[in-house]
Amino acid sequence: MSELKLPTRSEDYAEWYNQLVLRAELADYAPVRGCMIVRPYGWALWENIQQALDGRFKATGHVNAAFPLLIPRSFIEKEKSHVAGFSPELAVVTIGGGEKLEEPLVIRPTSETIIGHAYAKWIQSYRDLPVLINQWNSVVRWELRTKLFLRTLEFFWQEGHTAHATAEEAQAETLQMLDIYADFARTDAAIPVIPGRKSEAERFAGADQTYSIEAMMGDRKALQAGTSHNLGQNFAKAFEIRYLDKNGTLQYCWTTSWGLSTRIIGAIIMVHGDDQGLILPPRLAPFQAVIVPIFKNDDEKAAVLEASSRIREHLVSAGIRVKVDEREGASPGFKFNDWEMRGVPMRIELGPKDVAKAGAVLARRDRPGKEGKSSIPQSGIADAVSKGLADIQKALYERALAFREANTAAPKDYAEFKAAVENGFALAYWCGNGECEAKIKEGTKATMRCIPLEQPWGPGRCILCNQAAKEKAIFARAY
Ligand SMILES: [Zn+2]
Repeated sequence: MSELKLPTRSEDYAEWYNQLVLRAELADYAPVRGCMIVRPYGWALWENIQQALDGRFKATGHVNAAFPLLIPRSFIEKEKSHVAGFSPELAVVTIGGGEKLEEPLVIRPTSETIIGHAYAKWIQSYRDLPVLINQWNSVVRWELRTKLFLRTLEFFWQEGHTAHATAEEAQAETLQMLDIYADFARTDAAIPVIPGRKSEAERFAGADQTYSIEAMMGDRKALQAGTSHNLGQNFAKAFEIRYLDKNGTLQYCWTTSWGLSTRIIGAIIMVHGDDQGLILPPRLAPFQAVIVPIFKNDDEKAAVLEASSRIREHLVSAGIRVKVDEREGASPGFKFNDWEMRGVPMRIELGPKDVAKAGAVLARRDRPGKEGKSSIPQSGIADAVSKGLADIQKALYERALAFREANTAAPKDYAEFKAAVENGFALAYWCGNGECEAKIKEGTKATMRCIPLEQPWGPGRCILCNQAAKEKAIFARAY
């Protein structure tokens, strides 16, 4: 398989993506249309993503729990905009154990309602607050147009749900989690993201405010990579989540929810991948380095494998995730291509000549060919690999940031704006009126991605209607 070339990104970006996902063995199609089988290599990547996020959640006082997959249909109907937003996407169970159910059950599309129900029971007093719970699970949304990792009928994610005594605390929590997502994306996934606020039209169903991190993919389209919602008192009122304050007065809680899903894997593929395949950021890669032993006869084999296993041990003790590719019947060239396809950040080539002089060759995945190769002594190899991995992590981020900056325009008028969103992001003043937003979407297929939290440019005039505008927004075509 891996000896076949992928379509290049410029030839057919969508097909490049689809084939890469399959051939890197990240995921496969499932018998049910729109579902996804995450293969072990893709799941190992997801586990590293989970660890990186979970550590941040726990460091900020959150705990994990598990809520049920099945939710009474009536729960979804309790919050008006929530039901309007999710109804078209619901999968509903009407028969259980061969009997028609008295009340249909929905498979959770998200868990605000069932968690709201539990919080109403658990929270009595201000002493019970805040409640800071996260769960790692999968949810189902009946999507019509699906694509592996980016939009699937069932997807994996985490959903955090918190309850607070005041509006200020809920807002601080919403922004804290957005900040955690942004830090994770930049530090671990090497993805430059723009944290910002969503317009009313793009808000989560039932939220007062939605915030997101937005990233530019390799085809210059946008992808929303994580969201954090301030739910105000909407769900608290729908589910009677109340507490007695210090004066003995009954008050509604203020709640938040926030989620990041396996979509981020799609982002990693599209931000870093090249025409040879995947390029994984070292901090998340299941294997950070792979050792490819090279030999022609049994004597060479014994010496090379012995050295490989010694180097492997050094690297493992240095905390590096490493694999020796001992597959029989596959040539070194095949293995090189295969690991390039699978995006392993660093390859360690080890042949008889290297063994004879106690050396090895390191090859960086982000710099194909001779430019990315270096000969190093085996003594101190762990340090050389660690340093190389840190360099790759940094280089991937910088490359992605330079790409985004090169493809982000600040159009002066609507004609420039239309040209800009054909080829990337447009950072433009917007008056805040939903009509302008809708007209832009209709006329250009570009949506308002977010209003960046940082607004260093001061007020201006709306790119469409020329009315006064307080803020600039990012517009782009999006996944
Ligand atoms: Zn306007």
